[in-house]
Amino acid sequence: MKVLVINCGSSSLKYQLIDMDNENALANGLVERIGIEGSKLTQKVDGRDKYVLSVPMKDHKDAIKHVLDTLTDGTNGVIASMDEIGAVGHRVVHGGEKYADSVIINDEVMKDLVDFSALAPLHNPPNIIGIRACQTLMPDTKMVAVFDTAFHQTMPEKAFLYGLPYEMYKENHIRKYGFHGTSHKYVSYRTAEILGRDVKDLKIVTCHLGNGASVAAVHNGKSVDTSMGFTPLEGLLMGTRCGDIDPAIIPYLMKEYNYSYDEVLDIMNKKSGVLGLSGVSSDFRDIEVAADGGNNRANLALDVFYYRVKKYIGYFVAAMNGIDALVFTAGLGENAPEAREAIASDLEYLGINLDRAKNKVRGKETVVSTDDSKVKVLVVPTNEELMIARDTLALVK
Ligand code: ADP
Repeated sequence: MKVLVINCGSSSLKYQLIDMDNENALANGLVERIGIEGSKLTQKVDGRDKYVLSVPMKDHKDAIKHVLDTLTDGTNGVIASMDEIGAVGHRVVHGGEKYADSVIINDEVMKDLVDFSALAPLHNPPNIIGIRACQTLMPDTKMVAVFDTAFHQTMPEKAFLYGLPYEMYKENHIRKYGFHGTSHKYVSYRTAEILGRDVKDLKIVTCHLGNGASVAAVHNGKSVDTSMGFTPLEGLLMGTRCGDIDPAIIPYLMKEYNYSYDEVLDIMNKKSGVLGLSGVSSDFRDIEVAADGGNNRANLALDVFYYRVKKYIGYFVAAMNGIDALVFTAGLGENAPEAREAIASDLEYLGINLDRAKNKVRGKETVVSTDDSKVKVLVVPTNEELMIARDTLALVK
């Protein structure tokens, strides 16, 4: 069966068509600037030149129609007709406490997703729009929702409760949910396979370091803690998000400087993190270049970022009472040896010994610790699309 995986953002959409007979990606695409001037679809197929389609796309339905047309196009496509798509798997950011697993989308699920939008106002609405657009264009195709929060639903209360009045959890659903779950699950399970061990016997700390970034503690195959919280703002600092700050800073900014609620949210989500500290960029590549060129604030931003990741590794080693494997994934984690070295150095007392030569690797599954390192350090490129496709296939079969 062929499964179409859709990851819908507010003005962009990523897709992948995967042949589940061999788990090969037949096509990989990105639609950008949906509903904005300059809409563009880019599709990559192994062994072919990149295909780019620049046409106006007024909404997500328009975008998905162009995706389906491109996939079935005689010249640039990879399938003869839409009938070859057996099912669609949608990435959905928030599944609340109800969804600890992926689920076939029906009316009840759609209603829940709308309800959860209050918890994830930036993320769930575009996911819902994407699902509705697919339902309109492919009314007879089964669809599955795969949640970013699901893997973390195994966290114990002591990890997910905040020190707020308990009623706020019970009545207002305020708790840590955690995100990037599909990625943390994929890389932790893949780590066990690479090491030839049973994931149920391992204590793994997974570092998903991309534009959004989070760390998770995976004990015996279950997420027991993670750095993101009620929203993806908590934890590490990220490209543009501030991560952990003293919550009292927020009312202080609002009271002393007359910032509105929206302004504070905007600062914390879009103007902070390594962008805010460096003043250079939210992209780690730009910051590394600036730091190498002697830009002090760029250096400082990297230092603060690395230090925060290291601190979270420490938290989670303590939480699990040990660690067998430390895993790096996502844009920075997979591709930046300097970042891995800065984060994983001076941890020998925990049994973590990075092999600097082996660590000079980009985007490839590799064990980068020394042969005698008690704790294995790995680079494992994440594959959220494949996880979504696997769950989708399992549910529709
Ligand atoms: P997301 O999916 O959250 O948008 P990614 O996982 O694609 O993010 O990661 C994107 C980030 O990874 C970029 O902002 C960039 O900073 C970083 N990155 C990618 N390649 C490299 C590299 N070769 N060196 C350093 N950083 C990199």
